[in-house]
Amino acid sequence: MAAGVSQAQGSSGWSQRNWCFVKVYTDEGIVGIGEGSGWPRVVQTALEDLRAIVVGEDPANIERIWQKMLVTTMGNGMTGTPGSGAMNAIDMALWDIKGKALNTPVWNLLGGKMRDKIRAYGHAGTPERALELVDKYGLKALKTGGVHRTADKVEALRKAVGDDVDLMVDAHGPPWHSTKDAIIVGKSLEQFNLLFYEDPVPPDNVEALRRVQDNVDIPIAAGERHSHIWGVRRLIEEEIVDVIQPDTGRIGGISQMMKLSAMAEAHFISVAPHSGSLGPIAEYAAIHILAAIPNALILERLHDDVPARYEVVPEIPTVDGFIEVPDAPGLGVDIDEDVVAANPSHGNTSTPGREGDGNYEPGTWNEHVYVQTRYSRQANLRGG
Ligand SMILES: [Mg+2]
Repeated sequence: MAAGVSQAQGSSGWSQRNWCFVKVYTDEGIVGIGEGSGWPRVVQTALEDLRAIVVGEDPANIERIWQKMLVTTMGNGMTGTPGSGAMNAIDMALWDIKGKALNTPVWNLLGGKMRDKIRAYGHAGTPERALELVDKYGLKALKTGGVHRTADKVEALRKAVGDDVDLMVDAHGPPWHSTKDAIIVGKSLEQFNLLFYEDPVPPDNVEALRRVQDNVDIPIAAGERHSHIWGVRRLIEEEIVDVIQPDTGRIGGISQMMKLSAMAEAHFISVAPHSGSLGPIAEYAAIHILAAIPNALILERLHDDVPARYEVVPEIPTVDGFIEVPDAPGLGVDIDEDVVAANPSHGNTSTPGREGDGNYEPGTWNEHVYVQTRYSRQANLRGG
């Protein structure tokens, strides 16, 4: 479904958003719901191909079905995020089916509760937005983005919300953000005691992330663009991150999330699932996982980004900064298919840069979002 245009204040023009939900039907009448991200319109095509592999299987055998999907798609090359997103959606629906069949919530199948409520954080680009989120949802953690005068932005947020609210910075891994710039920005942020500094360099450049980790005294977070446990293996095994941020829609499903969490636990790395472009079914799945794992740090949550979010499912509220873990069988949520039908998908790309600012104008800050720190360096990098 088309989820709409992000209304988040401070957003930089990421335009059309899509969500892809899947339903898996069983011959006993139980229906499981799942979500796949990682380019949802491509995931939809992958799901149609995977249908033949899944239909006829016993839905209780989740790992068997996952491995079968992996092996039967190997001929297409390495499993990237669209493939992993499709497997993710089916895996999630199978866990939902198992919970409903056994009349128990998914968190109970994952080992039971470590906690009754999950700490959430929101996105704030301005002090006004930060105060609005603190007031509305009681949030005690906020994240801001970008690599442009970041320390100034964080200083303004810190002044607005005080010392008891955790702040984070997401640099969004710009493909041409040099390692040196990532370290300069990071060092300018050390004074604010951030909860983490996210994707300071392109996620493809693990060696660069290692250099940032070695040179910046802020916990480093990354992992949202990767798929399955092999995608994040080096980040965890070489302790390049302090916080791992799997996307609950494209990491490969609840099964992969649990394996990843155990790998991270062995290295004393905490888990903070990515949301961003994700829809509300994956959010529910993340809540069940965070309820069960010991190393859950916090959940990224977009509360009021697009109106469709809580039209397609009932809202699970954030109260005093926390989300209460649901007790209904399975994931405890279903979609309103009329809302999906009323919002047909028609494209799923975005325009980097700020809308209306003359994107791609050569020699300007807007030439490309990824060259922002290469021009007017004194003005762009100073701050704090
Ligand atoms: Mg991010």
